[in-house]
Amino acid sequence: MTTSPLFYQAGPPMPEVSHGHGVFLWDTQGKEYLDGCSGAISCNLGHGREDIRDAMLAQLDRVAFTYRTQFENAPAVALAHALVEMTEGDLEKVFFVSSGSEAVESALKLARQYFVARGESQRRHFVSLRPSYHGSTLGALGVTGYQPLEAPFADITPSSIKVPGPDFYRHRDDDRDAHIRRVLDETRARIDDAGGDTVIAIVVEPVGGASTGGRLVDQAYLEGLRALCDEVGCLLIFDEVLCGVGRTGTWFAYQQWGVTPDLLTTAKGLGAGYYPVGALLAREAIVETVMASGGFQHGHTYAGNPLACATGLAAVEAIRREHLLDNVKVRGRQLQKGLETLRSRHPWIGDVRGLGLLWGVELVMDPVEKTPFPAASNLFARVTALAKEEGLLIYPRRSLNGLSGDHFLVSPPFTISESETELLLERLARALDRLDR
Ligand code: PMP
Repeated sequence: MTTSPLFYQAGPPMPEVSHGHGVFLWDTQGKEYLDGCSGAISCNLGHGREDIRDAMLAQLDRVAFTYRTQFENAPAVALAHALVEMTEGDLEKVFFVSSGSEAVESALKLARQYFVARGESQRRHFVSLRPSYHGSTLGALGVTGYQPLEAPFADITPSSIKVPGPDFYRHRDDDRDAHIRRVLDETRARIDDAGGDTVIAIVVEPVGGASTGGRLVDQAYLEGLRALCDEVGCLLIFDEVLCGVGRTGTWFAYQQWGVTPDLLTTAKGLGAGYYPVGALLAREAIVETVMASGGFQHGHTYAGNPLACATGLAAVEAIRREHLLDNVKVRGRQLQKGLETLRSRHPWIGDVRGLGLLWGVELVMDPVEKTPFPAASNLFARVTALAKEEGLLIYPRRSLNGLSGDHFLVSPPFTISESETELLLERLARALDRLDR
């Protein structure tokens, strides 16, 4: 057998995928996997959907690609209207891209260009959380707080001030308010050190995904960030690449806290795994200022092409037609209950947290001290491998800056049924029972 020319990641050889249907995938050996993480939290409608295929084929029959500066295309306009409506009209302008990193990159550049257009070019710092994940391109990586990913490129990424975010696992109800105050005070102090008028934007994920394993913000924290941004005159960016488009039971997670950003990024679930589609949404005044200064100096070839947008539109319409946001909430509660039961059986499941169908499980050595496992234990990788053996896909990561600590995400497609949710929990329970710490 020749070795594969692909070099995505080190590790054992992977099974070859054969096909998928609903929440299941099969490899070429006939083994079945329940897709408990929707691919990369992207296949939100499950696999093999005929309605999405039909919409894509219909668009392919008309035209697959036109360039956004040569033609307007109806699916792009319709998807942009749908996104504006999904955000209740607070964010009126849409810029399409093809990935989450591109969406974040676009947000950072639009924010910077906005201030340049206003004669405030001294604004050159971003503020973001540690830990956090915002993407792999240099700009998005610059605001990412995940040490192993940042380290090789630290000298060549844009300036970002990394501040702690709220951690409600380690600061439970008794000192929750004080914790939020401390986190916000530290953010404010770091901004003051740099000079408030040098900051372009604060970037935050309302529900942490890859970096924090489902850590949530809350209303007081977001209100505090909004007030801070308004005071220093910088923008507030919510990165909903992972948690947006219905994943948490509302179109966007931030809507559950009622604090609106100036810019919003989304991707992953927008194309539901059938075609890459991402988007940046922005307040109209910001876009108008940039456009009046000669236009946004940014763009990607495949952005907003007809096939991408027809796919995104079909995915959003399917979520609406099948009332899938309701299913996300109902199955989310079932999943939460099941994961809590697993926590009561396994003392090293320290925390179960999330919203809708986005659940993070943090593994700790000691549930009282909440001490993470040492990095060498590679628990996150072992639990994922065992789950895969049991026929379940979960989304693993090291937590706490990527240096130590372990978590995994459980985030099945929105279409998952009651019995499939039970099956997911059974397979996860078997994997956890086999985990030799
Ligand atoms: N932002 C967030 C919050 C993400 O979770 C991700 C991907 N995990 C990205 C940005 C980057 O998206 P992509 O991999 O599509 O470039």
